[in-house]
Amino acid sequence: MLLQPQRLIRATTPRTFHVWTIGCQMNVAESAAITSALQQRGLTPVPAMDDAELVVLNSCTVRESAEQRVQGTLHLLAHRKGTDPDLMIALTGCSVEPDLEAMTQKLPMVDFFFRPGALDHFLAQLEAHEVVGAPLVSNPVMSYEVPVSTYVTVMQGCNKFCTYCIVPYRRGREVSRPIADVVADVRMMTRRGAREITLLGQIIDHYGRDLPTKSHLSELMEAVHDVEGLERLRFMTSHPRDMDQRLIETVARLPKTVETIHLPVQAGDDVVLRRMRRQYTVERYLRLVETIRATIPGVAVTTDIIVGFCGETEEQFGRTLDLLRTVQFDVVHVACYSPRQGTVSASWEDDVPHEEKEERRRRVERVQEEIQARLNARLRDQVVEILVEDSQSHRQDLPQWRGRTRTNKLVFIPREDEHLVGQLVPVRITRTSPWALQGVMAH
Ligand code: SAM
Ligand code: SF4
Repeated sequence: MLLQPQRLIRATTPRTFHVWTIGCQMNVAESAAITSALQQRGLTPVPAMDDAELVVLNSCTVRESAEQRVQGTLHLLAHRKGTDPDLMIALTGCSVEPDLEAMTQKLPMVDFFFRPGALDHFLAQLEAHEVVGAPLVSNPVMSYEVPVSTYVTVMQGCNKFCTYCIVPYRRGREVSRPIADVVADVRMMTRRGAREITLLGQIIDHYGRDLPTKSHLSELMEAVHDVEGLERLRFMTSHPRDMDQRLIETVARLPKTVETIHLPVQAGDDVVLRRMRRQYTVERYLRLVETIRATIPGVAVTTDIIVGFCGETEEQFGRTLDLLRTVQFDVVHVACYSPRQGTVSASWEDDVPHEEKEERRRRVERVQEEIQARLNARLRDQVVEILVEDSQSHRQDLPQWRGRTRTNKLVFIPREDEHLVGQLVPVRITRTSPWALQGVMAH
């Protein structure tokens, strides 16, 4: 079904567009696909949202803070539309509810809605309303340079229904892409400059179970691994319940698959985990980490934590800190719990006060900062291989290349004349901090 945009008549068709993105890597990947599709149809991307005649908001509602930023941006655009009625606004991402008619009533300033991953639906709407024509290039390939490190979505949705999480309601059930389609995307991206690919899925170790071929993520990784030009292969996000031995061994065996596993634990207490419906215990999680470390030498394990979940006591939170000290994660992403309307836990009492959640978040960060400082300090004087991504720098007077180790640690090296973007470079680490490493080329 095509939705009627709020306002069909405009004096001119848009020539410029801007894609505003917030949220996870999946949104980043989808924004790249939106950009490519609009460019193929003759529109020009502009860096400032204010200069664009068509603005696509790729939204997130996983946490309240993201939702507030989306609402703030929509408010600004609604204001601009008051004086510039030709402005076109499209909304996608997890803020878009399945009932698009209801969305139209709720957000009248938005011309087009499309659900996450439903780019074809958006393009069909644009074509039906003659906002754009058919693609200018007959072969629908990406028409722009791809970053050295880039993302490919291999599956949509999630069937897990953790009690706090909005994702299954907004991204729907798990749908995997066939191996051949993913390989074709990776080929196209490496031809355009990508050297590192991260395969994305909300629950990537479930990849392929819905396909008629019942493929395993290991098979997908083997197929992608052989693509010419690819130097490194990553994947995320793994679920502790579903990561199996076959996958762990594949990571250990395939040379381009790097030693980084993102394995969200969310909490360090079994009662909290059960109420979150995570389907594992702390003990099972610890055993899995042990297996991963025994099978993949030098692996970096990273995680996500939610603090202040409904009913989380000080004692239960203390067990999350204990878990951090036990596991010694390389990176921890910590978020204060925020109830998401429509999820199971939204009907429970959100009884940990805001200030207490913030305090718990800071305590996690303090413990983790010490751990990262210690882990990174071990790398001093070691030679590591980095993939150079770009020439970003903290300081104007000190031009530097920016790259990452196989374990995803950020490394800066002095920028000399040689063009290193996209190259694997041996680097001797000279200085470390909890968040980044400084080094020099090792030859
Ligand atoms: N699929 C992944 C998993 O199983 O953990 C993560 C997907 S979720 C989009 C990304 C992260 O957002 C989660 O790991 C969790 O820490 C956080 N998150 C999700 N819902 C949240 C909520 N209601 N409040 C705070 N953080 C939340
Ligand atoms: Fe959300 Fe849980 Fe699915 Fe991750 S596994 S996307 S946290 S429902």
